[in-house]
Amino acid sequence: MSNLLNKLSVRSPWLFRINAGSCNGCDVELATTALIPRFDVERFGCRYCGSPRHADVVLITGPVTLKMRDKVLKLWDEIPNPKVTVAVGICPISGGVFRDSYSLAEPLDHLIPVDVNVPGCPPRPQAILEGVVLAKKIWMRKLGIEEG
Ligand code: SF4
Repeated sequence: MSNLLNKLSVRSPWLFRINAGSCNGCDVELATTALIPRFDVERFGCRYCGSPRHADVVLITGPVTLKMRDKVLKLWDEIPNPKVTVAVGICPISGGVFRDSYSLAEPLDHLIPVDVNVPGCPPRPQAILEGVVLAKKIWMRKLGIEEG
């Protein structure tokens, strides 16, 4: 039964966004993938949701700050498996321009497994869409279903 459900829903992963301490630059670019028809993720069968419990793919922006570290981990844990994690922008990858800041925790991939990196400061909407499409493919592979 769950295999049948997977097959029926496999073309429409739901996305959830976490701001781990971003300057909001990446979040503005992410907003274009929800609001502007030209870059809308719904063209690829994806949509944003408001709860981690409903999500399949998580997009994380910003360097992980000490203040946000535990909240990021808690939200990430609430997303059901199989999930795909996308680091959006250079900040979650290496700390970016905040790299040596006293207020940062570890890079994101030291805390949780990251499946897709979308570098840039901020990345362009096209790059974010490319990351989402790759995340969708990885998610389908994790479900054991090949893209037809
Ligand atoms: S990558 Fe650049 S735009 Fe994105 S959160 Fe970091 S500093 Fe801001």
